[in-house]
Amino acid sequence: MAGMRVTVLGSGVWVGNRGHSRRGPGFLVESGDSAILIDCASGTNYQLAEAGFDPNGLDALFLTHLHADHSGGVIALLGEMVISGRRGRFEILGPPGTRDFLECLLAAHSKIPGPIAKIRDSFDLAILEAKPGPFYDSGGLRASAYELRHSALNYGYRLESGGRAVAFTGDTEPCEALAELARGCDLLLCQCFRMEPSPFHMDPRSVAELCIKAKPRRVALIHMSPELDPGRAAGIIRAEWGGEVIIAEDMMRLEA
Ligand SMILES: [Zn+2]
Ligand SMILES: [Zn+2]
Repeated sequence: MAGMRVTVLGSGVWVGNRGHSRRGPGFLVESGDSAILIDCASGTNYQLAEAGFDPNGLDALFLTHLHADHSGGVIALLGEMVISGRRGRFEILGPPGTRDFLECLLAAHSKIPGPIAKIRDSFDLAILEAKPGPFYDSGGLRASAYELRHSALNYGYRLESGGRAVAFTGDTEPCEALAELARGCDLLLCQCFRMEPSPFHMDPRSVAELCIKAKPRRVALIHMSPELDPGRAAGIIRAEWGGEVIIAEDMMRLEA
C-alpha cells in the first residue's frame, strides 16, 4: 500500500444519547505492514472488530491526551489482547503523564484475578512518553508530536509514510503549533466540536482559518459533538477556505 489508509472508528465525542450516534475518538492508520491506533475511546475495540481488524495486528497506540473520551477504552483493548493470545511488543505512547496514568489503572486491575492481572506474563507492553518532535520510526512509518493547546496536555500527531502525511489534532484550540502540525499535509483530521467558539476546542471558523494558513490537501471533521450541525459546519469551512471538506462518519475509510 502506498501512503496510508485511515479508518475512522469514532467521529464523535463520548455522548451516547440525544440521538447522537457517533462513537468516541479512535482512528486506525495502516501503512504497509504498520498499523497504529490513534486514541482509544470506550468501545474502540468493538469498532476495530466491526472494521474487520484484529487488535493483535496493532503495533502501537498513540494517545493524544488522557481525557477519558480518548483513553477510556485502553483497558478493554489490552484485555482483549490478553484473551486472544497476543505475543510480542505493543507500545502505548502519549504525552508526559501517560505512564503514571496507565500504571495506576493496571495496578488497580492487577488486584482483581482476570485477564489484565496477567498482562505482564502475556506480552511485552511498553508505555512510553513522547516529547514534541519526531518520536516514532518503524516499518516505514514515522510520527512526530506537536504540543497543542487544550485543558489537558494534548499532542497532535503527524504521521508520514511513502511521501504522504496525515495529521490528527486531538483536542485543541487554535495555536501556532496546530498550523505547524497541519502544514501541507495530505489529510488533516481536525476536531470541529461546536458551531460557536469555546475554550480549548475548534469550531467551523477556526478550522477554516487553520486550513487557510496550513493548506492541507483535504480536511476531515472529527470529534463532532451533538451541538454541531456537520453540514452547516462543512459549508462554512468550504465557503471561507475553498478546499475539500469531508464530514467523517464512523467506519469511513480515507486514503492519503
Ligand atoms: Zn480533551
Ligand atoms: Zn475530547
